[in-house]
Amino acid sequence: MVDKEKVKAAVRMLLEGIGEDPDREGLLETPDRVARMCADIYGGLDEDPGMHLQKQFSAPGSEVVIEKDIVFYSMCEHHLLPFFGKAHIAYIPDGKIAGLSKLPRTVETFARRPQIQEQMTTQVADAIMSSLNPKGLMVVIEAEHTCMTMRGVKKPGAKAITMATRGEFKDDPEKQKVFLSAISL
Ligand code: ZN
Repeated sequence: MVDKEKVKAAVRMLLEGIGEDPDREGLLETPDRVARMCADIYGGLDEDPGMHLQKQFSAPGSEVVIEKDIVFYSMCEHHLLPFFGKAHIAYIPDGKIAGLSKLPRTVETFARRPQIQEQMTTQVADAIMSSLNPKGLMVVIEAEHTCMTMRGVKKPGAKAITMATRGEFKDDPEKQKVFLSAISL
C-alpha cells in the first residue's frame, strides 16, 4: 500500500530540493495530488499477478492464441519517468485458455510498479507459464522510454523491443516468425 503521508513529505522535499517554493499557490496541492496518483500508477505492487489468470476455460485442441497491441504505461525504475507501449502475447494452450481480458490485466499488474522493460517481459511470461501452463509462450514488448526521449540521448520515437520465449516457442524460429509477422514486427 502506498504510504500517502510519506509520499507527500517526499514530494515537498523534492520541490524544495530543485529550488522551488512548495508553498506557492500552484504547488500547494501538488504533494497530495502526487500521493493519490502514486496509488494508481504503483498499484500493481499490491496485486497478485496470478490472480487474473485463475479463471480458465477448457478449449481442447486450440492451437495458438494471440493477443496483440495491449497498451500499457509504466514507470522506469531508474529515473521514475514513464515508459509506454504495447505488449503482445502468443501462447499454445495445453487444453486451457485464459479469458481474453485477463492477459491485459496481467500486463497491467506488472506495468503499474517501478519497472524495467526486460524484467517486465520476463515477469509476464513467468506469470502466464505458472498459472496457465501452456505448451508454448512468447511475449514481446515494444516501448518508448521518456528517460531516453525527453532527457539523456533525446531520441524521440526510438523504441526498445524485448522478447521472452518459453516451451514450444523457445527453439522454434518458425513459430516465432509467425507471431512476429502477426504483430507486424
Ligand atoms: Zn530510465
